[in-house]
Amino acid sequence: MHHYGAEKIRNVVLISHSGAGKTSLAEAVLFASGAVNRLGSVADGTTTSDYEPEEIKRRISINLSLLPCQWNDTKLNLIDTPGYPDFVGEVKASLRVSESGVIVVCAASGVEVGTEQVWKYANETVLPCLIFVNKMDRDNADFFRTLDEIQSKLGKKCLPIQLPIGSQKDFVGVMDLVTLKSYGISSQEIETPAALLELCKTHRERLVEAVVEVDDELITKYLDGKDISTEELRRAIKQTILLRKIVPVLAGSALRNIGVTLFMNLILDYLPTPQEKGVTAINRTTGVKEEVEPTSTVPLTALVFKTSADPYIGKLNYFRVYSGVISSNSQVWNATKNSMERIGQLFVIRGKNQEPVPQVNAGDIGAVAKLALATTGDTFTSRERPLILASVEFPKPVLSMAVYPKSKADLDKMSTVLPRLCEEDPTLQVRREVDTNEILLSGIGETHLDVAAEKMLRKFGVEVKLESPKVPYKETITVAVESEYKHKKQTGGHGQYGHVFLELEPLPRGTGFEFTERIVGGAVPRNYVPAVEKGVNEAKHEGVLGGYPVVDVKVTLFDGSYHPVDSSDISFKIAGAQALKKGLSQGQPVLLEPIMNLTVTAPENFTGDIIGDLNTKRGRVLGMRREDSISIIDAQVPLAETLRYAVDLRSITQGRGSYTAEFSHYEEVPPHIAQRIIAEAKKA
Ligand code: GDP
Repeated sequence: MHHYGAEKIRNVVLISHSGAGKTSLAEAVLFASGAVNRLGSVADGTTTSDYEPEEIKRRISINLSLLPCQWNDTKLNLIDTPGYPDFVGEVKASLRVSESGVIVVCAASGVEVGTEQVWKYANETVLPCLIFVNKMDRDNADFFRTLDEIQSKLGKKCLPIQLPIGSQKDFVGVMDLVTLKSYGISSQEIETPAALLELCKTHRERLVEAVVEVDDELITKYLDGKDISTEELRRAIKQTILLRKIVPVLAGSALRNIGVTLFMNLILDYLPTPQEKGVTAINRTTGVKEEVEPTSTVPLTALVFKTSADPYIGKLNYFRVYSGVISSNSQVWNATKNSMERIGQLFVIRGKNQEPVPQVNAGDIGAVAKLALATTGDTFTSRERPLILASVEFPKPVLSMAVYPKSKADLDKMSTVLPRLCEEDPTLQVRREVDTNEILLSGIGETHLDVAAEKMLRKFGVEVKLESPKVPYKETITVAVESEYKHKKQTGGHGQYGHVFLELEPLPRGTGFEFTERIVGGAVPRNYVPAVEKGVNEAKHEGVLGGYPVVDVKVTLFDGSYHPVDSSDISFKIAGAQALKKGLSQGQPVLLEPIMNLTVTAPENFTGDIIGDLNTKRGRVLGMRREDSISIIDAQVPLAETLRYAVDLRSITQGRGSYTAEFSHYEEVPPHIAQRIIAEAKKA
């Protein structure tokens, strides 16, 4: 591929509900442009975009894919993204580095949950967009029904810029409302059916009415009833798209190659170049916001937006250049890490293929392997003007699973491989849960974590099992007791003797564990007190109910006796530990469980179902607010009931709900539930 100036580049992200046809559309574009000479298919697992085994197996995109091609004299950097909600991190990264987007909608399924979700993201990032109504050839395809849904759910500013000719098996082409020309399979120009002309007039009128507003001269012309030229109309459409005042709706079929090149022409005609969307960055030294000039003649600013871990070539960083040029075998300043970074060979990526290039210019996207420091979100720039671009905003993980290695060898490798996986995917996190001593891997959903485990095996040869995490239960007592233990052994020579009286008192919830003494008259000599404390402290880690740690208890050593020859540290340690156990058994012990503060956000029509579900989870609703038509519910729910809440909430709200959870406090487990937990713990 050649070098392109920023005015000859389009960075376009494809977003949609899963299965609307992004990958197929991207493949059709690559084929039409001549970038690939064989049209791959999702069904056969042969697309340029989805090549990883986890993607082929599930027939879904998991990673963002860069799919550059040349159309006319312009470089089209298409970015195919996953539609499945678990992989939203890749969507966020792609949105961050694109100037425009295409929302793909299935003409048969219409606007789906995922469509509304990506529409929301496009609004959040103020992204100029097109909507491509795909699968017009399918049974049940209906352009106008889909258009109605788009206009009622996404907004009236979504206006057709094309009309389909025919539908379902009779879908033969699309008509362009600007040029009034019609095109069939492989973009052959065809005659517009007379029956369509009236409809075309109505929709063209609506389009013209919506776009002339941006230009005073045009609006006067329009109101005076004068003709508006195709060129004037084109300019006005481009401007209104950039201002996000309209979102043109297209029609087509990726599979039958109808409307594909027209779609590509529309991208070139109407979607902004990197030069047409201003970018700012913060100067690390001065803290001042500065404009980033999108040309190749100024110093470098580039953002690392993805890192992939490859077992063969190592780490591969994808970056987007905003200004200046980055060259192979050079050095750049990593302003985020405050350090020089040595750049080796640069690549342009297409799907799984890497083509070496000498440089990547402003506006373009490239990749580089084996960087020492760079991670996703870093800015490459010049040392003299250390600009930092806004990073990608990744969603926080919501579902955790415990990771268990299959073998000792897997265990040894796990600690190095898990951080690499997390580096590749910032929506994954790994941590050790101190209380349960488990390694927890957290992500966005079940499929996300399953894929992570599969990747561990395929890329790094580490086999693991994912299990529901253990709940860090604790134990305490409910009444004050006194407990005595005498450890006495006479075995031949030296005997063992340690004798203590402990007082155990319950403390308020969250206080912890305390040990004190009030020995009088040397009943237990001073030098043995630390041994008693040690015994108590060791024994408190395993309570008498289910072996859980003991908390919120005050232990006082208040009496005992000793033997001048047989007493020793070890004897008093044993006595302390045993006295504690005895005391705990007598103190009417109970099980405590962690309670979480949950804040659930969802469209208000799901409020009833969410609260109903929280009730079945032993939850207590603390409050509820409404903002616009969104409900925000605050509740306290036992951790044990929230381990799969990410999955449950998604199914209750069809993916429209979200939540945050944080630890609040420990509370007593209701007796009937405690019995079951204790029985299971004893069995384990
Ligand atoms: P993505 O999840 O949005 O990337 O969607 P895919 O490109 O993977 O397509 C999902 C399914 O829809 C696949 O089985 C495709 O073959 C099928 N598909 C995609 N485009 C079309 C189309 O234009 N017409 C028909 N009939 N099927 C299509």
